[in-house]
Amino acid sequence: MSDENKSIHESDLELIFEYFANLDRQGPGSPEVTYKALSFIDNLNDKSLIADIGCGTGGQTMLLAQHTPGNITGVDFCPTFIDLFNQNVQKFNLQNKAHGIVGSMDNLPFQEEELDLIWSEGAIYNIGFERGLQEWHKFLKPGGYIAVSEASWFTEERPAEIDNFWLTEYSGIDTIPNKVAQIQKAGYIPVATFVLPENCWIEHFYTPQVTAQQVFLKKHAGNKAAMEFIAYAQHEAQLYYTYKEYYGYVFYIGRKLGFRIF
Ligand code: SAH
Repeated sequence: MSDENKSIHESDLELIFEYFANLDRQGPGSPEVTYKALSFIDNLNDKSLIADIGCGTGGQTMLLAQHTPGNITGVDFCPTFIDLFNQNVQKFNLQNKAHGIVGSMDNLPFQEEELDLIWSEGAIYNIGFERGLQEWHKFLKPGGYIAVSEASWFTEERPAEIDNFWLTEYSGIDTIPNKVAQIQKAGYIPVATFVLPENCWIEHFYTPQVTAQQVFLKKHAGNKAAMEFIAYAQHEAQLYYTYKEYYGYVFYIGRKLGFRIF
């Protein structure tokens, strides 16, 4: 990726927020995958406290709220997403089960050992997988669960083009065994790991973007930053179609050790 592309990323966050606000999901995933990850969690009751970190507009949170006991706090640093999140809470009549707050994943407003479950789909990379696992650990009760999805390599070696792309985008991407070792080292039992199927990227993420891109380009006709952002998004999708044998998203579920070893 060139420096020019990098500056697009950093310069026009508002445009990026606006683009993703028009989509149900802000990252790869699907309702089926959220259910599947949830099937490994067995410690929840009506008093449970759950955090969905980097919740976006809450596509996955609404499902969680409908299918788990307990109360969910969605946290995202984008106020536009949190407004939409709280509108979704109203729409699905989940006021007693979920609410969204603006906050940053590196400074979370939770007490130590308060949470029964930390959920985070397609977002932990913003703080870094290892750092997120380590820093969020203290918020979980002993025996509490963490369930996160994260970009991962499927193979030990990859073609240079995709290797270089990810090195610049997110150098924390790693193989599944290395990620599992990081979970263990951070003080969790690795409970489950599964690869998200391709439809999470294609049907639920890239395909809805095709129409969203047309609408966005029409609205921002002549805006160079908008055009460059869409060109970049299309490039990213094209790389996925070309190299999807080599990488994808993986759900990792860990359980905080029920005793103290530190
Ligand atoms: N979980 C949602 C959104 C994933 S996109 C889904 O799967 O659809 C990643 C999200 O992380 C975005 O909503 C972005 O606003 C949020 N994010 C990025 N950096 C963050 C930070 N430092 N603190 C909190 N949220 C952050």
